[in-house]
Amino acid sequence: MITKDNQKLLKKIPQTDKLIQSVYKRDFFQNIPKSLIVSAIRKVTEDIRTAIINTEQQQNNNKITEKDIEQNAVIAKVKELIIEKTTPNLKRIINGTGVVIHTNLGRSPLSKESILRILDVAGGYSNLEFNLDEGKRGLRYQAVEELICEITGAEAAMVVNNNAGAVLLAIETVASQKEVITSRGELVEIGGMFRIPDIIEKSGGILKGVGTTNRTGIKDYEQAINDNTALLLKVHKSNYDIIGFTKSASLKEIVYLGKQYNICVMEDLGSGTFIDFSEFKMKYEPTVADSVKAGADIITFSGDKLLGGPQAGIIIGKKDIIQSIRKNPLTRALRIDKLTLAALEGVLRLYADKAQAVRKIPTLAMLTAPFEYIKKKAGKFKRGINSEKNSDISVKLIETNSKAGGGSLASEELLSLCAGIKINKLTAGQIENKMRASKPPVIGRIENETFLIDFRTVADEEIKIIKEAIVKIAKET
Ligand SMILES: *Cc1c(COP(=O)(O)O)cnc(C)c1O
Repeated sequence: MITKDNQKLLKKIPQTDKLIQSVYKRDFFQNIPKSLIVSAIRKVTEDIRTAIINTEQQQNNNKITEKDIEQNAVIAKVKELIIEKTTPNLKRIINGTGVVIHTNLGRSPLSKESILRILDVAGGYSNLEFNLDEGKRGLRYQAVEELICEITGAEAAMVVNNNAGAVLLAIETVASQKEVITSRGELVEIGGMFRIPDIIEKSGGILKGVGTTNRTGIKDYEQAINDNTALLLKVHKSNYDIIGFTKSASLKEIVYLGKQYNICVMEDLGSGTFIDFSEFKMKYEPTVADSVKAGADIITFSGDKLLGGPQAGIIIGKKDIIQSIRKNPLTRALRIDKLTLAALEGVLRLYADKAQAVRKIPTLAMLTAPFEYIKKKAGKFKRGINSEKNSDISVKLIETNSKAGGGSLASEELLSLCAGIKINKLTAGQIENKMRASKPPVIGRIENETFLIDFRTVADEEIKIIKEAIVKIAKET
């Protein structure tokens, strides 16, 4: 039974027609589609109705009052719902984790040059598969093939949707129903369900693991070769290091072996860098050009890891093999789209000058950022908070190591500076939750019960936004 009071309330809920007439007089609703307004009004009034009936059944104190069903209050709720429904689901966030190539946060932010290329191509037609010189059908890869070959020294190049696709496609082309020899120390899981043994199986190859987890010599490869062997595969140990009593065959040794037995050699580089990081006081990481020089027949790597571009899988190598990969029907299923291709061309052009690339490609700029620069940003944040004179907030600068992420430079420790932020009456977990709910969301991490923002991955213009989010949270607590 519904009480008389609540029956009265139910009757007083404003009618949909009246609400529609009223909202049309308000600016906010002028450009909102009518169907969206009507469905939002229905949802809000329905929720109020259910709440009135439920409060009765549960007899709790959260009763809907006359105030809640006044026209203005209802319209405010409708507006809130419409804002929620029209805000994009995929949105810009601030990365305060210090992980530069963060797979969950979209990996590499694009350079201005890449973004401009997308803007130029996106809204119109393009010569995506049209050869303008000859006036006939062209190849999708033409926009980037020459650039990639110039940077890496490879004979030929093509691009697909991502590196996982590149590996799948390459193995399917050269080793379907045939044996693929790989070191047991390189049977990698990258994360997100990408495991090398599974990819080999899915591409129709028969995995033949050789050696042991920590030691594999070139003899192990040689002993495993038989008439059904089609590929010697080397995989980059992207996200781990095997240290201690270890041994592995170099790409050069494997290439030599492949030549002797006339077997194709492939290297999955994972990240694949065009830059020699040892020039920036970091550990030496073999470059893509090094692998080409070593003589691999096929080399695959990602577009959005150390390269700093859009999601893509790049396949380079010997002309005849790349040619047969192009002809594989799977290529069509894994093809790269025009926006990605435009962005990829934009970033590749920056590599014409390595110093410029490191300056203008955000991923590289963040990875090689001098400690002094990070310190400057952290200091600016701390001064900003201090100037608020809010005694509920305290900030302490803490030295930590940030990570390259994305299965890149696994053993590299990048000295960085974090702000350890505390707010009175809030735990680190509560601060983390509230920062994640901020607009825009700010993602940090927790260490020793302290919420941390690592300034390696924070852009200068984001410092103020983070400060304002923290101040807002403190004020609302
Ligand atoms: C990251 C990685 C991949 C997968 O690349 P995506 O571009 O993410 O598909 C494959 N192999 C290795 C060794 C990797 O590090």
